Amino acid sequence: MSSMETLTIKTENKFRSLVTKQAYSRGEVICDIPTEKLFDKANRYTVQISQDKHTEVGKLSALNHSCDPNVILDTENLLMVARRDIDKGEELSFFYPSTEWEMDAPFICLCGASSCIHVVAGARFLPLSTLENHYLNKHIREMMIELLENTEKHLSELKK
Ligand SMILES: [Zn+2]
Repeated sequence: MSSMETLTIKTENKFRSLVTKQAYSRGEVICDIPTEKLFDKANRYTVQISQDKHTEVGKLSALNHSCDPNVILDTENLLMVARRDIDKGEELSFFYPSTEWEMDAPFICLCGASSCIHVVAGARFLPLSTLENHYLNKHIREMMIELLENTEKHLSELKK
């Protein structure tokens, strides 16, 4: 089953989170990523799915960021997949820079993971060595390669 009916939004002190009502095994598809409403720019309710497209994700906008997440958003196949075994009642989270190049509303992460990146602002602000430890979508990899090529070009122009 791959529908959002198994997911529920929990609100505590205005802080939203997404909780699963059923258990999942590692690698299992949890739901599709909706693509009915597309935007040119990121907002709090969107996920970036290509270099220039952001999709409104409905319930999935309640997914919080984690530096040690339990789900992956695969924007090529438009699926949310379990990154590890997940228990019934667990909060779901993903690594925001795996989809977001530059975020609309950056924040400080307090997830407590040993690999915590602290400033969550999008992939373009993270070193390659950090990004390499995470699932990265195709558009993020492409944008990172472009950024590195531009930096190299700029450096060689400075040497002239
Ligand atoms: Zn963190």
